[in-house]
Amino acid sequence: MTPDLTIVVPLYNEADGIAAFHERLCACAARVAASRGLRIEIVYVDDGSRDGTADIAAALPVAGIDLQTVALSRNYGKEAALAAGLDHARGDALLFMDGDGQHPPEMIETFVGLWRDEGHDVAYAVKADRADEPASRRLFVKLFYRLLNFGAATAIPEDAADFRLLSPRAAAALRRLPERNRFFKGLSSWIGFRQIAVPYRPKPRLYGSSSWSFLRLLGLSMEGLTSFSTAPLRLAALAGAALAGAAFVVGLWIVVEWLFWGIPLPGYPSLMVGVMVIGGMQLLVMGVLGEYVARVLSEIKGRPVYFVADHTLRHAQGPAPAA
Ligand code: UDP
Ligand code: MG
Repeated sequence: MTPDLTIVVPLYNEADGIAAFHERLCACAARVAASRGLRIEIVYVDDGSRDGTADIAAALPVAGIDLQTVALSRNYGKEAALAAGLDHARGDALLFMDGDGQHPPEMIETFVGLWRDEGHDVAYAVKADRADEPASRRLFVKLFYRLLNFGAATAIPEDAADFRLLSPRAAAALRRLPERNRFFKGLSSWIGFRQIAVPYRPKPRLYGSSSWSFLRLLGLSMEGLTSFSTAPLRLAALAGAALAGAAFVVGLWIVVEWLFWGIPLPGYPSLMVGVMVIGGMQLLVMGVLGEYVARVLSEIKGRPVYFVADHTLRHAQGPAPAA
């Protein structure tokens, strides 16, 4: 029997917290399963952890719910881990959450209620506030969403977390998106259907530390931008047009000045400024173009998003048939 709902949890170096997390998650999942009459399965995706997370996850107790553990062959990044979870999930509906305790499992009940009772297709958690984060990060996030949603047909909600539930038809839609550069938040909002935001306050991490350095976040942002928005290209074109317009006006002014006053031009500084502005603009725009070309290249290579090293499927009752 296939499950009705699969909970996908990516794990990277979460050895210290996973046992406690699993217990909490199972308690919540069992409660929801009982009250809603749903069959629930959990899929843990180990994203190439180096602290034995995979072995610990594979040995977690199976308490009334089917449990899959998928160990990737190396660290591919969270987006790839989510893709692996999506591919292995047997459930019709999907729920994604972090395994570091920051996404409270108690919210699963709310999500399921929004899906079953109110017919929403995508229920996603949104950070209620970012007051606890440094101002620089908040500014960066603001800028990112501004750029991302600039002229976009489907705006990606600001501050949405990867913590979300997808109804069967939303999950089916997500499964049909073929791209290799995954930006999960963007994809699950791009598919449309009835979406609803649920405000929440992320808990502090129980163990370990966030694996997102500034550079990694920048990488994810570029990935999100280039796969969801052509705004940078359009902005580049606009900037080019503005520069060309300004150059035309200045040129005209120089001719007028020369015609009527015959003033010899103080040339060097203005020339340098002109050359540097144009040169800088060109490099910047080439960099932006390059980002898109790089995406095209990686899509065209068509490599698998991840490789699986180990996979186990343990059923709630009875012996465990290996898959
Ligand atoms: N994660 C992952 N692969 C990675 C980095 C993170 O699967 O390369 C998982 C991690 O175990 C956690 C979730 O993604 O379950 C969110 O990661 P993290 O807590 O580091 O991010 P933050 O909460 O700071 O956004
Ligand atoms: Mg976290």
